[in-house]
Amino acid sequence: MKYLFPKSIKEALEYILSEKDSKFIAGGTDLIIQISDGFIIPQVLIDLSQIEKLKKIERTEEGFKIGAAVTLEEIASSKFLPQCLIQGAKSIGSPQIRNLGTIGGNICNASPCGDILAPIIVLEGELILISPYGEREVPAKDFFIGPKKTILAKNEILTEIVFKKLFLNERNSSFRKIGKRNGQTISQVNVAIWLKKREKSNEIEDIRIAVGSVAPIPLRLEKVEIFLKGRTINQEILKDALKVIDEQIKPISDVRASENYRRMVIGSLFQDAFKEIYK
Ligand SMILES: Cc1cc2nc3c(=O)[nH]c(=O)nc-3n(C[C@H](O)[C@H](O)[C@H](O)COP(=O)(O)OP(=O)(O)OC[C@H]3O[C@@H](n4cnc5c(N)ncnc54)[C@H](O)[C@@H]3O)c2cc1C
Repeated sequence: MKYLFPKSIKEALEYILSEKDSKFIAGGTDLIIQISDGFIIPQVLIDLSQIEKLKKIERTEEGFKIGAAVTLEEIASSKFLPQCLIQGAKSIGSPQIRNLGTIGGNICNASPCGDILAPIIVLEGELILISPYGEREVPAKDFFIGPKKTILAKNEILTEIVFKKLFLNERNSSFRKIGKRNGQTISQVNVAIWLKKREKSNEIEDIRIAVGSVAPIPLRLEKVEIFLKGRTINQEILKDALKVIDEQIKPISDVRASENYRRMVIGSLFQDAFKEIYK
């Protein structure tokens, strides 16, 4: 197998055109397992981890952006990124996995239980995709089309995740997950919430909720958001919101958990995440 280290996005795109049976690799924490299990056998790996432009977290005029090759550990140990993103990254694997694994790899791998997906959806991240033929910007919620399936073309690189209407240091978002044990565990269910209260009141002005592992793709729970918007929340309203959540999710039973279990725990996870930011 040939292993290439482009130093720029341009060079990576040249390789993807010239090397026919090739695949991008970042941290390799998902891809190497797929290769060793024989699911894919690329002849050439194009390593994105030495492209400086993909490794930066930067402020922008409107918010901030995160390069696709930024590691999960850099996000987990950030003091200023949105809380749900930090919590999502912190919950992934072990320190070794977080030191290698990248935000871009988690997104492009598109596992329904990926712990970065719900956070980037509630933060309304925009994915910048670059191919030899041009650039496009896709809302995170439109990127996933099935388990491990995305709209990414073979010759496209996810270069950055851009957050436009957000500001660093915001603490109005939250992430929770449950797995079979406390540490190093894959999500049976995960949930991310972003919310904004009306000034000097407890009324919800705006809210975004996304859940993972309860449908083939991460789901934005728009009906629940509409139900909660404009309300001042008490336990009764929260209980009713749980019924709306139950109507919107489509969990299956698999090796990690049964459909019933997923339906049961999502309510507790949602309430826990909600209460952290709605005080
Ligand atoms: C022991 C273990 C525990 C884990 N625990 C968790 C967990 O708790 N939660 C969780 O969500 N995940 C978990 N994972 C999965 C994994 O660590 C993450 O999904 C990680 O973020 C993948 O990033 P990577 O850089 O290693 O991706 P890679 O393996 O390098 O790539 C994954 C896929 O994305 C493509 N790709 C990568 N970057 C780009 C890019 N910039 N543009 C285009 N395509 C790209 C690759 O071609 C490949 O198809 C675990 C994995 C292991 C081995």
